[in-house]
Amino acid sequence: PAAPAANFLRNQIDADLAAGTYARPDLPNVITRFPPEPNGYLHIGHAKSICVNFGLARDYAGLCHMRFDDTNPEKEEQEYVDTILDSVKWLGFSWEKEVAGNKQTHLYYASDYFDKLYEMAEYLITAGHAYVDSQSAADMAANRGNFGEAGKNSPFRDRSPAESLDLFRRMKAGEFKDGEHIVRAKIDMASPNMNMRDPAIYRIRHAHHHRTGDKWCIYPMYDYTHPLSDAMENITHSICTLEFQDHRPFYDWVIERCAEGGFFKKPVPHQYEFARLNLTYIITSKRKLRQLVEEAIVDGWDDPRMPTLVGMRRRGYTPEAIQLMAERTGVTKSDGWIDYSVLEGCLREDLDPKAPRATAVLRPLKLIIDNFPEGEPVECTSPVHPHFPERGNRVFPISKELWIEQEDFMEVPSKGYFRLFPGNKVRLRYGYVVECTGCDKDADGNVIAVHCTYFADSKSGTEGSANYKVKGNIHWVSAPHALEAEVRLFDRLFTDPQPDSGGKDFKLALNPASKEVVTAYLEPGLSATMPEDVYQFERHGYFVADRVDSVKGKPVFNRVVTLKDSWGK
Ligand code: ATP
Ligand code: MG
Ligand code: MG
Repeated sequence: PAAPAANFLRNQIDADLAAGTYARPDLPNVITRFPPEPNGYLHIGHAKSICVNFGLARDYAGLCHMRFDDTNPEKEEQEYVDTILDSVKWLGFSWEKEVAGNKQTHLYYASDYFDKLYEMAEYLITAGHAYVDSQSAADMAANRGNFGEAGKNSPFRDRSPAESLDLFRRMKAGEFKDGEHIVRAKIDMASPNMNMRDPAIYRIRHAHHHRTGDKWCIYPMYDYTHPLSDAMENITHSICTLEFQDHRPFYDWVIERCAEGGFFKKPVPHQYEFARLNLTYIITSKRKLRQLVEEAIVDGWDDPRMPTLVGMRRRGYTPEAIQLMAERTGVTKSDGWIDYSVLEGCLREDLDPKAPRATAVLRPLKLIIDNFPEGEPVECTSPVHPHFPERGNRVFPISKELWIEQEDFMEVPSKGYFRLFPGNKVRLRYGYVVECTGCDKDADGNVIAVHCTYFADSKSGTEGSANYKVKGNIHWVSAPHALEAEVRLFDRLFTDPQPDSGGKDFKLALNPASKEVVTAYLEPGLSATMPEDVYQFERHGYFVADRVDSVKGKPVFNRVVTLKDSWGK
């Protein structure tokens, strides 16, 4: 693979390595982290962050910590922890590292730091850097002020550290109800940066936590927890998306104050922000994705149309394709949109050399070769992969009755149509040349079977075949031998490239044709397919055996992507 492209993060790391910024004897010089909140399923946007963070650790022989930012007891669940870990592993990354024959596990939970975070909050209060505020939520919001105008100090701001500390301890002991008091950093209510106007650091929540149970009824805020977790873990480069730029001053402030208190030694972590991945034709808001699931617009979080990693995996996206997209779209400082076709292009690039070829008839129509001998079928062969002869051949039978695609016959051909119509000859791919002689229709005039005759000396791969020059070349499967299978033809879930931007109602942009289920006929060898096997069905695209619904001998296929980018054309 090509060397990774330079970007501002790599430049920063290179500069830090050259300057020895994080040259510590017992720790790697580059430690990043991926810090999801376990409140939902990971999506393709998270994959970008995973690839950036784990990718930098890999390329610089450093470490990437897998950390759960689990400070919101009401929204978090073990189920989400499990699926997130699964998805990161599936993407090809690991938080385990072998060092001198020992396995290190770099899996962390912010909730494991609750004692330490509490201790640091007591320190900040004692040192006069934080106080307990007892304003109502409404007063607190009003006094925070608006952008462009100074806020007002809380009447509780000058409480003595001793009084605040006493209240904080009683908050912890469960003496108060949710919202009665809150701990705030004492910074500057006139700061032009709203995040510096005495941000909250601890709140009361009488709620059960998925890991700490009922031990706590106060929980640290994300903006307080995140920098301190980074510092406790000796993170060097704390990489997040641009919307956190305004949070950086508080990130630095809280680490600096706690370092003064002796909790950390220098060097401390620094935060860097890059542009989030915005892909067209998808939505990534957790709330809206949940709506799709709860309103049964899709069939669950792992519906193959979902941009979740569990959905994309089921759809047949590969970790390699997602990593390629992450690399190709780069790391920048300005927000933009990436066309979904970039991801599909990476997917085709990854699948083309891997996927064995196979034949599938998705919209079947009977073709009867009237002069074909009854009895034993004839064997046809074709390469498993046209570019890799070493992968061998596949063998499948041809017989008197075949399935072909409905679109490969026209009773009255349109201009430029080279496939089957009465009087025309085509090649049955890897088989014989046939000449169409007519068709059968039902009472309503629908074509129900096509008739033809074949030329016994025209078989592909035999000498005689060279005497036949035909323009059309169609695929087929032998009707008595074919494997009948459910095939799901997926398309984009939305018709609008930015379905939820600018306050639009994303449900108005749903693509009514995003899922079609057909009964297809497949080449018989496909009965040996295992879940998650991927094939290229010639002319139709790439298809994966559904990992949930496939059973032995009876695969169910999902179309991963078509062969060419035909969207909107
Ligand atoms: P929430 O809406 O609950 O805040 P989130 O999308 O921020 O969800 P987190 O679990 O907090 O989800 O995200 C984990 C990490 O993934 C964060 O560092 C976040 O910046 C990053 N991330 C999320 N979406 C994207 C995206 N579209 N592009 C790049 N990184 C992303
Ligand atoms: Mg978040
Ligand atoms: Mg978010």
